Amino acid sequence: MKKSLIWQIVIAFILAIITGLIFGEKTYYIQPLGDLFLRLIKFIIIPLILSTIIVGVTSSGDIKRLGRLGGKTIIFYLLSSLIAISIGLLAGYIFSPGTGTDLKLSKAVETPAETEGVVQTLLNIIPTNPIESLASGDVLQIIFFAIFIGIGITIVGEKAKGVQQFFDGFAEIMYKITGIIMSLVPIGIFGLLAPIVGEYGLAVLMPLIKLILAMLVACLIHAGLFYSFAVKTFGMMNPLQFFKGIFPAAAVAFSTSSSAGTLPVTMKNTQENLGVSKETSSFILPLGATINMDGTAIYQGITVVFIAQYFGTTLTFSQLLMVALIGTLASIGTAGVPGAGLIMLTMVLAAVNLPLEGIALIAGIDRILDMMRTSINITGDASASLIVEASENKRQKPASYLK
Ligand code: ASP
Repeated sequence: MKKSLIWQIVIAFILAIITGLIFGEKTYYIQPLGDLFLRLIKFIIIPLILSTIIVGVTSSGDIKRLGRLGGKTIIFYLLSSLIAISIGLLAGYIFSPGTGTDLKLSKAVETPAETEGVVQTLLNIIPTNPIESLASGDVLQIIFFAIFIGIGITIVGEKAKGVQQFFDGFAEIMYKITGIIMSLVPIGIFGLLAPIVGEYGLAVLMPLIKLILAMLVACLIHAGLFYSFAVKTFGMMNPLQFFKGIFPAAAVAFSTSSSAGTLPVTMKNTQENLGVSKETSSFILPLGATINMDGTAIYQGITVVFIAQYFGTTLTFSQLLMVALIGTLASIGTAGVPGAGLIMLTMVLAAVNLPLEGIALIAGIDRILDMMRTSINITGDASASLIVEASENKRQKPASYLK
């Protein structure tokens, strides 16, 4: 049944491309099908994160372990983002997408992304009103709130048993609903992709084809070399098995361009196909969907080089280091929603004094780049959960077909 899910997704991809090519912009009429799927998948995210993290903390009952898990996760996230942005920079120089383009710069209305400073950003993780955090979907604040409820339940013990059981049951319900919605993945992918193919004809993509190819190659290298190596060496898993297991989530990420929106599928794939426990994945994946963006880091590396080349600026070595540093921070600050990376790019451009108008050059095709980077973003999160789990010696055999 699951094997056929992969095939259904592949067929949905092919059908979407054919439909988009044949009907062009008229494919717009299919959009509601995609939106239906998107709304269905989005409505589970917040209750899923809240309940699964609470259950994750209470079922292990080991607060020290949680700290250790958090530490390892953050280190892996930072390291992988740094590697990603370096690959992006390298691909930028190898492909030189910004030289010889005859693009015209049209609009120049971008303003740099607003940053609040490190201290304020960290302080913001603590919610002043957790109900508001839930209502507005602030994932970091929800994670914070859920961890503390979990810690509270563990400390209180007997008296809080009822609350624990409630969230336990609630989490199971959310997993079940995710399972139901996942059967609609192929339809959702078709509904989301066909209009995109219809909208972006070859004529739109052609002037920036070098940039798109550079991004594609860099993503493939990051996944094919870095993730394969990390998954095999530290996650004790055959990379092919890993990529096959995470494929449905990567396909959903590709069509939705949102790591946050893909989260329920990422969690399900990671648990069922990669054998990562609910305790570990329920904590690492929501965090990753919010702060770990390897694809976005690759994108920033490539686009900065592209924009510099377009304006005939040569970046010095110290500027490149600056791009790596600020780009990693910017990718952490990027929200897991469509188009967020483009806005954060202004931060990196400003740091190395490149014209912010450069953003206008890529805005027209950003969605295509977004699809690629979001797939990498969630694959990175999944690899982290696998590796951290393996380091705790806890990984179980995948429950599924992929052994
Ligand atoms: N769309 C990406 C994501 O959700 C973020 C970005 O725009 O780079 O992961």
